[in-house]
Amino acid sequence: MIDICLLGATGSIGQSTLEVVRLHPERFRVRALTANTDIEALFAQIREFKPSFAVIADESLEPVLLARVKTELPDLQVQILSGETALQAVAQDQATHTVVAGIVGAAGLLPTLAAVQAGKRVLLANKEALVCAGRLFMSEVERSGAELLPLDSEHNAIFQCLPYNKRYQPEVRRILLTASGGPFRGYTRAQLDEVTPEQAFLHPNWEMGKKISVDSATLMNKGLELIEACWLFGVSPETIEILVHPQSIIHSLVEYDDGSQLAQLGSPNMCTPIAHGLGFPDRISSGSAFLDLCSAPDLSFEKPDTETFDCLKLAIEAAKRGGSHPLYLNAANEVAVQAFIDGRIKITEIASLVEKTLKFAPDSEPVSIDEVIQLDGKARQHCLDCLNEIS
Ligand code: NAD
Ligand code: MG
Repeated sequence: MIDICLLGATGSIGQSTLEVVRLHPERFRVRALTANTDIEALFAQIREFKPSFAVIADESLEPVLLARVKTELPDLQVQILSGETALQAVAQDQATHTVVAGIVGAAGLLPTLAAVQAGKRVLLANKEALVCAGRLFMSEVERSGAELLPLDSEHNAIFQCLPYNKRYQPEVRRILLTASGGPFRGYTRAQLDEVTPEQAFLHPNWEMGKKISVDSATLMNKGLELIEACWLFGVSPETIEILVHPQSIIHSLVEYDDGSQLAQLGSPNMCTPIAHGLGFPDRISSGSAFLDLCSAPDLSFEKPDTETFDCLKLAIEAAKRGGSHPLYLNAANEVAVQAFIDGRIKITEIASLVEKTLKFAPDSEPVSIDEVIQLDGKARQHCLDCLNEIS
């Protein structure tokens, strides 16, 4: 039996993970579930999966959840906890084998890192953790012997196309990171200026949380993924080429020196990469629809439009400059995306705010996690100052 801790259980990744877990009751047991504020969803999951621990990140909500569990599930042996230290504690719990990192944003960094430091198998969806603190994060993976498996569909595809045996590392010529192009592919700047958050949430191929949906609409998501791939696979930004593939059937490719390109294909459903990570190295069923290539749409490919979607251009530049640029890019993007969701700015202003914040980014890389947290706070403040000037 494999004990699982699910960080961000109530989100899109969390729910898809539980869909896969539901299919394999003989294989997986849910040991811990965590959420930020969504008591309703967390309570329903506690009722169904009967974990040993449930953490609500917002401490003010702990008494509400506790009261609900005591009255409605009086016989259940579950410990209700709250706050940042509890998130880290359940991620490090001795009986837990696999930690799914499904928290959104830099808020996921410390709990995910805690799981890494405890040497867990970590299934990483929280790409922002690597964007913020890639080198420090990867050196902890190395030191602790944690097993890091990517859940992001593109990175999971790349992982599947690379040899797993680290002693045999062939020359990778290019990594082709695919992108759907998002809901506004083909739009002009003038058209982009007019889009609403609701339109941005409607991704053509994937159902995801609000923040990553907006990131997919601006193509910032692909920029964050490029940085994520550099750290995960130890390659330079120049090795990675972004390929727009609107059907999201090929989830990425690896090109080798002999001219071979290996790809991973499948229906666009996160349950496939999640099942790959949960079962690894076994292959287990995911519940995703099997791909029928004869009835699938024609596959098409194009280059990304980085002039209109300038968030992607900023992210590629930040990846190449390194230092604290990726950290500042991510922090500013989180603030700006929230401002767009709140109706304070246009979608096209996200890139302007990120660009203005990046001017403050130190060229040196943070040397400790404390410094990461401190710089992340500074970057957010710079971005908020710029935001207050325009809205
Ligand atoms: P979501 O918004 O649906 O869910 C986020 C989860 O994190 C929720 O459970 C929420 O309660 C929790 N959370 C939010 N803020 C928190 C905080 N401050 N402290 C503790 N918990 C907090 O997001 P999602 O779409 O599931 O995405 C999660 C992560 O996975 C993101 O990093 C995203 O980029 C990545 N990802 C998502 C998908 C997808 O299909 N949804 C695909 C690839 C990668
Ligand atoms: Mg992805």
